[in-house]
Amino acid sequence: MINAKLVIDGREETSDRSIDVVSPADTRVKLGTIPDATAEQVDEAVKSAAMAFPEWSARPVEERQRALFAASGIIHDLIEEEAPLLSRENGKILEESHLDLEFASGICGYTAEIAPEKLQDTLIRDTGGTTRIRRRPVGPVAAITPWNFPVVLSFMKIAPALAAGNTVVLKPSENSPLVLSKVISALQEHLPPGVLSMVTGGDTVGETLASHSLIRKIGFTGGTETGKKVMASAARDIKRVTLELGGNDPAIVLDDIDLSDETMRGMVKGVYSTTGQVCFGMKRIYVPDQLYDRFVDAFCAAVDEIVVGPGDDPRSTMGPLNNASQLQIVEKILEEATASGASVTTLGRKLDSVPWEHGHYMMPSVVTEAAPHQAIVEQEQFGPTVPILRYTELDEVIRLTNRSAYGLAASIWTSDEDHAFELGRKLDTGSVFLNSHSFTSLDPRAPFGGAKSSGLGREFSSASLDAYTELQTISRRTGPPGPPLS
Ligand code: NAD
Repeated sequence: MINAKLVIDGREETSDRSIDVVSPADTRVKLGTIPDATAEQVDEAVKSAAMAFPEWSARPVEERQRALFAASGIIHDLIEEEAPLLSRENGKILEESHLDLEFASGICGYTAEIAPEKLQDTLIRDTGGTTRIRRRPVGPVAAITPWNFPVVLSFMKIAPALAAGNTVVLKPSENSPLVLSKVISALQEHLPPGVLSMVTGGDTVGETLASHSLIRKIGFTGGTETGKKVMASAARDIKRVTLELGGNDPAIVLDDIDLSDETMRGMVKGVYSTTGQVCFGMKRIYVPDQLYDRFVDAFCAAVDEIVVGPGDDPRSTMGPLNNASQLQIVEKILEEATASGASVTTLGRKLDSVPWEHGHYMMPSVVTEAAPHQAIVEQEQFGPTVPILRYTELDEVIRLTNRSAYGLAASIWTSDEDHAFELGRKLDTGSVFLNSHSFTSLDPRAPFGGAKSSGLGREFSSASLDAYTELQTISRRTGPPGPPLS
């Protein structure tokens, strides 16, 4: 049992109220508790972030860089020990928990590397004088994160925010907070008090934090509806926001796809990784009419290899969903699909020992012959199922992709990569992946984020440092600017 603590101004604190963290693989198993922070504790954490800001932001970037390199090492050293707990609290398989921690360690190291150059002033000198363009930190930041990849999604905000000289108050999801809270506690010895605090609890804690008048920037990952509320909270004080929200990513299969086992396994990863609970997971697959039956057979054969069981059992290749409400959402979407005439094929096998009725389990499935207006096609299912849809004209698929309210990512599956690069430019999404659509598609050197209702702003790359800084112009100009402006 782990009784996590709040981290406020470098101190660990409890609260009068607590929230149980239970295993999604067997809800009879209580893994630990987190404090449900009071409004006063949130206020205290934000005030300590505001107090710590002037000194932290005034430090040379190389000092903050050193702290991030240390954080990278600490997280890396925790991978082996903590990945099993992450699988137990989250539901996802061990490989995915390793990835969560590895990516978090990597993003701290990468951000530390690029920060000094990116944060340098730009100087303009000419006959008229000197202009200095400076990137300065915005102030205390609220980082609010979901449960599917709790560690890396938190450090995609914490790393650039701290590197740029901001201070951070983190609010993780109550559905997968234990490993993250251990990481945040372990980092305290490398940071001055108040630079990185953590308040845990439910949605009210997130709302209190997002609304606090001393917070200058909110980095948020979560559902689109919550993102709208966060934006409304930010509006009161014109806080800056970066929003990474939901997606309904299409995979567009072209008629020259290589239907090999390797391709099919790649596509299956794109749908069923983390039990389908990945923001940029493949959520609908468009297949040319003449290829439809062959594609469905090949895809279903690959899905049928999935083994469902507890995430921390090395034999499992897919764990349970994270929580009861997510399970209900997916069940409802599938019931509606069946009732409207689509066909739902359940595949895979489960481990004998699985306590099925006590966990949030669901077998992987494939939906065929769904109509375009059904929820399984139009909404984000965020679960282990996918509709396979027919098309005859490629232009129609482009139109359907761009008509969606979402625009996180899309993938194109073809043997002709030149054509795919060209096609990718026509899609209204933040990312387009060619012949892959899962974690291997991500490159931390390239910006990641959504168009339309999938978000605002970008994480990863040097764009993440743009997101946690503001430009300031300091100039001494006495004459007209030099050519070509004079
Ligand atoms: P959620 O939106 O319910 O919660 C996310 C976080 O916001 C939690 O910590 C929650 O307590 C907090 N919160 C809730 N209401 C709030 C409010 N009014 N003000 C401030 N904070 C509030 O999301 P979830 O259920 O934890 O995660 C699933 C969703 O996250 C999916 O829609 C998924 O697509 C999305 N997601 C997006 C990305 C991305 O990078 N685009 C990544 C992962 C997950």
